[in-house]
Amino acid sequence: MTPTAQSAAALFERLTGSAPERIWSAPGRANLIGEHTDYNEGFVLPFAIEHRTYAAVGRRSDGIIRVVSTFDPNPVEVAIVELQALFGGDAGEGVRSGSVPEWAAYPLGVAWAALAADGQGATQIPGVDIAIASDVPIGAGLSSSAAIEGATAGALDDLWGLGLTPLDMAKIGRTAENQAVGAPTGIMDQVASIMGQTDAATFLDCRTLETQAVDLGFAREHLALLVIDTQVSHSHSTGGYRDRREACERGAAALGVPALRDLTVGDLDRARAVLDEVTFRRVAHIVTENQRVLDTVEALRAEGPRAIGGLLVASHVSMRDDFEISVPELDTAVESALEAGAVGARMTGGGFGGAAIALVDEARLEQTREAVADAFARAGFRAPNQFTVVPSHGVLRDA
Ligand code: ADP
Ligand code: MG
Repeated sequence: MTPTAQSAAALFERLTGSAPERIWSAPGRANLIGEHTDYNEGFVLPFAIEHRTYAAVGRRSDGIIRVVSTFDPNPVEVAIVELQALFGGDAGEGVRSGSVPEWAAYPLGVAWAALAADGQGATQIPGVDIAIASDVPIGAGLSSSAAIEGATAGALDDLWGLGLTPLDMAKIGRTAENQAVGAPTGIMDQVASIMGQTDAATFLDCRTLETQAVDLGFAREHLALLVIDTQVSHSHSTGGYRDRREACERGAAALGVPALRDLTVGDLDRARAVLDEVTFRRVAHIVTENQRVLDTVEALRAEGPRAIGGLLVASHVSMRDDFEISVPELDTAVESALEAGAVGARMTGGGFGGAAIALVDEARLEQTREAVADAFARAGFRAPNQFTVVPSHGVLRDA
């Protein structure tokens, strides 16, 4: 057992006085390529990372669900029959003002969504204690939210005998996040976390929800994936995200397609003629990014990870110039990593801050970190938080 699994077990014992029946875990994720393509029904290529969230669980006899996290000393308790009243309101409304702390809406929301999907009715279900511990950095763009959802979904599926498929679990996580927490996210994070495989990425078609594991070969090629967290979070990121979504919807409507997924690079000349200049550039990013995801999958399969550097860089340039969601810190991270010899680098995540990733030879890792840190210091930016992530396996039972 990892130290984090042990701390979940210890927290469970403090809560209940006995050992957990089971421990389940699910990982965070990083997105190799495919940014803002998810809500355009396009393609993404994320991978699960070795940082994981653990849920130590055990049944109760009283129909109560109780959650506790190393995050917050106070356990949160709800009767299972009350979950529907708590979360079952209008879609996206989120947790009723203050009735449970926001973090608890993730595991409780998963319980609610799992029971709603199961249709067994909440009354026959035994209560459960859930103790959560995690080593996924929170809010660093590595999806600690999907990790807590996945670990809870795996544990409840097991304890309650729900017979969920991996895709069911991903959908339950998304429902919890959209409706119980009230965060309007897609399904990429949950799929990446739940379905991850060692040294592989998950190619996801966000329209059909079909997935394919794609071998990354980082270990074989002695490559490391460096995350450069700028620790910048811009106050306009929510507004910026909404604005980009609206531009994509506007573009699709003007071009007469259900989603930008339905356009290819060959349609861009027509798009330029029809759309205003800004909307055109937003559309151009999505259309070219979808193609880059397809090209990355092909390059990985045909030639291996050293062949994808140009695609990663092109993705960054497209987000910087066409989608306009980069910031100087992210550009500095990408440029300095490339100057230090990275195979490829790009900003990752929603934009306006957050992290960049760089694919780096293991032998050059230290000098790349130093080059990035120096470039940040020269520019007068706050030092970035740099760490590597290893493509790892998805949800599983640890004990
Ligand atoms: P990200 O997924 O990028 O890390 P989000 O804002 O989507 O950021 O999710 C972070 C939120 O998820 C936290 O603020 C907290 O509410 C919840 N969360 C994640 N991990 C844990 C944990 N170990 N214990 C309790 N809550 C957690
Ligand atoms: Mg999240």
